[in-house]
Amino acid sequence: MSTIFSKIIKRELPADIVYEDTDLLAFHDISPQAPVHIIIIPKKEINTLNNLRKEDEIIVGKMVLLAKNLAKEFKINLSGYRTVFNCNEDGGQTVYHIHLHLLGGRKLEWPPG
Ligand code: AMP
Repeated sequence: MSTIFSKIIKRELPADIVYEDTDLLAFHDISPQAPVHIIIIPKKEINTLNNLRKEDEIIVGKMVLLAKNLAKEFKINLSGYRTVFNCNEDGGQTVYHIHLHLLGGRKLEWPPG
């Protein structure tokens, strides 16, 4: 099942891309919930966290490391930030291609709504 994120990977949809390599793409969220809100995706189509396989452990590790690097690049590493994977309906997932949200630049509430 292809999603809008697959279209962004194929450049069929525009996005404000901040990072790309052979495995990953990262771009600014179209509807930012914080001053910094970046979406990190694997180029491999994986619909939800529930579909992760053993072979995906490297790609997920790369996503988390990229979040750390982008947090520094966007100068939220010291003030703090949040990384979130939403899964399925109750988790608030709306795009069924796994993605890691990187949010920061303001004080984030906890617990989430
Ligand atoms: P989630 O609700 O966890 O599935 O997150 C999907 C995120 O993708 C939301 O924060 C949306 O604002 C964001 N989003 C949807 N379409 C686009 C797009 N075309 N470009 C950038 N971000 C998008």
